[in-house]
Amino acid sequence: MASVPVIPIPGTGGYPMIGLGTFTIFEKTGSNDEVKEAVRCAIDSGYRSIDCALVYQNEDSVGQAIAEKISEGVVKREDLFVTTKLWDTHHNPANIRENFFKSLNKLKCGYVDLYLIHWPFGFEDGDEWFPMGKDGKARFSDHDYLDVWKGMEKLVDEGLVKAIGLSNFNISQTERVLQNCRIKPSNLQIEVHPYLSNKKLVDFCQANGISVTAYAPLGNPNRTWAGKDDPIVFEEPILKEIAERKKKSIAQVCLRFLLQRNIVVIPKSVTPKRIKENIDILDFELTEEEMKAIWSLDRGKRFYLESIAKGHKYYPFDE
Ligand code: NAP
Repeated sequence: MASVPVIPIPGTGGYPMIGLGTFTIFEKTGSNDEVKEAVRCAIDSGYRSIDCALVYQNEDSVGQAIAEKISEGVVKREDLFVTTKLWDTHHNPANIRENFFKSLNKLKCGYVDLYLIHWPFGFEDGDEWFPMGKDGKARFSDHDYLDVWKGMEKLVDEGLVKAIGLSNFNISQTERVLQNCRIKPSNLQIEVHPYLSNKKLVDFCQANGISVTAYAPLGNPNRTWAGKDDPIVFEEPILKEIAERKKKSIAQVCLRFLLQRNIVVIPKSVTPKRIKENIDILDFELTEEEMKAIWSLDRGKRFYLESIAKGHKYYPFDE
């Protein structure tokens, strides 16, 4: 199999354009053993990038799988690219280092390649994932993400983290970080799939030297909060037709579409066959007409709205 292309990120060995996503908790089907097996299978199948987050509550399983694959001699730590994210209740600039260690102590991989601010807004400081008031509304904090960013920069200075970036920031928020940073964000992780091109934001980042990672690249079809009328990529006639013509699966076509936009993909799967399928996308190319046909599916449809943060001054989807 051809080797996965990488995006150069200073300070790292390069960010592989295909990685394994590990968000399972809200599917309610996942167990941490399943995640451990998925990471083991992914590494055996050629993945070198794993996307994690403290809030997924499975970094210990990811860390165990990585440690096992290193001790089995399958990979070395420096072959891997591990991403994780600072959670929303951990934005207090005074505690960023301590909160970063909550991830590193679970991942146990010495350092993190890419550390992201998971969302621009904060929830009340502490270790309750989603602190809610008696009125049913989230309890917010108002730490400025520029101060959070300064804390992230210090982790790079210390060598604990090789690169830092953002997730779920909009254009004006990303621009504000760019204009006020000492270390530039290397990456923005956002939702992108055939129903959500996120074109303006992707173009903005790519024009400013910020790599883009697509989360939910398959539109997370099995999410527990799916609406009954939500479109599903696996049922899309245009994608079916292209997949048949290319002798590839719909998932592979969706992922290839993003790669050809120079976007990193991190599909999540705990199914060995799918894990292998999702990295097997380097031996075909979508034509201009096929790309155009997929572009036509764009309808600005977001599946991740983080609605409980609506009303926060940094809620990113109010543009
Ligand atoms: P996704 O990768 O678009 O979809 C995952 C779902 O698709 C799983 O239920 C999986 O099932 C299924 N699937 C995977 N490959 C398939 C294939 N080849 N054929 C058919 N079904 C397939 O959605 P996601 O998990 O929401 O997003 C990917 C990753 O992005 C996450 O895991 C996480 O790492 C990251 N993420 C980040 C944020 C953020 O705020 N930064 C938000 C959401 C997600 P099985 O597992 O059962 O195979």
